Amino acid sequence: DRAASEGRRWMTYDPAELENAEWKMSLLARLDQAVEHGEIWVAYQPKVEMATGRIIGAEALARWSHPEKGEVPPSQFIPAAERSGRIENLTAHILDSAVAATASIHRAGHTDFSIAVNLSARLLDSPSLLTMVADTLARHAMEPRHLILEITETTAMTSQDGIVQALEKLSASGVRLSIDDYGTGFSTLDYLKRIPADEIKIDRSFVSMLEKSQSDRIMVHSTIQLAHSLGRRAVAEGVENAVVLNELRLMQCDYVQGYFTGKPMKFSALMETLPSLEKRAIA
Ligand code: C2E
Ligand code: MG
Ligand code: MG
Ligand code: MG
Repeated sequence: DRAASEGRRWMTYDPAELENAEWKMSLLARLDQAVEHGEIWVAYQPKVEMATGRIIGAEALARWSHPEKGEVPPSQFIPAAERSGRIENLTAHILDSAVAATASIHRAGHTDFSIAVNLSARLLDSPSLLTMVADTLARHAMEPRHLILEITETTAMTSQDGIVQALEKLSASGVRLSIDDYGTGFSTLDYLKRIPADEIKIDRSFVSMLEKSQSDRIMVHSTIQLAHSLGRRAVAEGVENAVVLNELRLMQCDYVQGYFTGKPMKFSALMETLPSLEKRAIA
């Protein structure tokens, strides 16, 4: 009977799912090697200040140029790296690349440029996180205030004491914190109050609906107002056109990020566009 039910279960196995599992296994097997071989690189998406139209920073986004599979998006390997204990090594690599890049942007004269790096929630438990961040900044002689760590709301909202303490230590070290994908988790006002975040980054699912949905417009507007009332800055992600940008300007959103103001790009492309984009005021 048991065998029969297992047989049935096997029969219902989706071949596409199995293939997907195998694909993820094969990716994982090569992940450490990929870091060593320099296949993992960082794309930079400009972050624009609404009031001036200046690029005031960028978000570092992990990319994997796989020799056989081509460009693998982070959604395919970040969660797997988290589950398999490889996220610390991967983050150390991404953080180092991003901080090194920012140091050279500073040397090129853009001395206020800040870099946002995504931090997996799991790393907030790691006893070496604080040292990893401090060592990376020291290695490139970069001030902590130029680094923003983005933490997704789903993690932050759990509001466990350990997580709050880890975030408080990071904040005390001078690094800035951002609550990423805001609105998609199960946030409580309590956690917004407890977490020492400098900015709230409104998820693109709300931002992209601004034109069409009155309720999304209300959500975005009140989130910006809430952020300001708490003394935080508001960032909108996923700004894809001028209509949305203009709505956000009327709502006094502080910063915008999206395909309209700049797609994620290679470091060399960022360096080339930085001066021209800085002149192209959107305000
Ligand atoms: P995220 O941190 O919310 O990053 C924003 C995502 O939205 C990026 O996708 C970006 O390319 C995309 N995006 C930006 N502007 C637009 C737009 O106007 N329209 C649309 N449709 N999309 C836009 P990406 O690069 O695929 O990254 C996906 C997620 O993977 C990130 O979401 C982040 O959670 C995670 N991730 C990326 N790099 C890292 C990393 O180094 N460490 C960790 N832990 N997670 C990372
Ligand atoms: Mg992010
Ligand atoms: Mg985000
Ligand atoms: Mg998002």
